[in-house]
Amino acid sequence: MLQLVLLGDSGVGKSCIVLRFVRGQFDPTSKVTVGASFLSQTLALEDSTIVKFEIWDTAGQERYAALAPLYYRGAAAAVVVYDITSPESFKKAQYWVKELQKHGSPGIVMVLVGNKADLHESRSVPSQEAQEYAEKNSMLFMETSAKTSDNINQVFEVCPLRRLFGFT
Ligand code: GDP
Ligand code: MG
Repeated sequence: MLQLVLLGDSGVGKSCIVLRFVRGQFDPTSKVTVGASFLSQTLALEDSTIVKFEIWDTAGQERYAALAPLYYRGAAAAVVVYDITSPESFKKAQYWVKELQKHGSPGIVMVLVGNKADLHESRSVPSQEAQEYAEKNSMLFMETSAKTSDNINQVFEVCPLRRLFGFT
């Protein structure tokens, strides 16, 4: 069992990433998350270890920020999401990383995810900048698209791998 929390600005695609992973779907009319929502999913790793995920998808809006510790405190893994077309969302991601470093469980696996990679024509956060930030903060880094499903499963695979085997 692996408790995983998604954090990041409202609108970056956290709920779409979870829906893509859990249901294999992308719904462009998906509803804004209120408070937080919970989903579970199992995944077989390459060595056939079965991992059961308990996923907390948080809201991101300022008015729910005070609730976030309820979801990340016990988490074994945190996926911090920004939108590659939004520098503000990248700034917000850095805020969440600092929060996790201060108040997250020791040894929490952190993954920085630049979502909406399909919108590369409107990119305004360079991959290299995010990669360097992630390295400095001992995080994994990936760019994803919940729309095309690019790298979505990889995000969820890498968390238990890092947690169980120290995989980087
Ligand atoms: P959340 O607030 O972080 O949970 O964001 P949502 O999952 O609700 O997504 C916000 C908006 O971004 C929705 O209109 C989605 O359709 C859109 N969206 C989410 N992921 C992607 C993606 O990978 N590519 C594109 N083009 N749009 C996305
Ligand atoms: Mg949401």
